[in-house]
Amino acid sequence: MYCFNCGTQIDDNARVCGYCGMIQKNERNSRYYTADGEKEWLVTLLLCLFVGSLGIHRFYTGHTNIGIAQLLTGGGCGIWALIDLILIITGSYTDANGNPLVK
Ligand SMILES: [Zn+2]
Repeated sequence: MYCFNCGTQIDDNARVCGYCGMIQKNERNSRYYTADGEKEWLVTLLLCLFVGSLGIHRFYTGHTNIGIAQLLTGGGCGIWALIDLILIITGSYTDANGNPLVK
């Protein structure tokens, strides 16, 4: 394949262009990104929906400290979990690295 940034031919499985260093985002290797730490939107939504008051969706997305806080407060009496649920549905929720969830 070719680097989308500079057009240099690079290995089909390469994730980073060896010439310009640009990270390659394409259909072929996008699934590796998911396996590499990005979190699934649907999984986060379901976790928040069913066990949101335990903060499980926060643990899943790497917000461990907030997850513990939600666990201790019962998801802020459900309000915190509800806010998170709205954020997830509207696509405003990010994981601990600031990455949007993968749909
Ligand atoms: Zn390049």
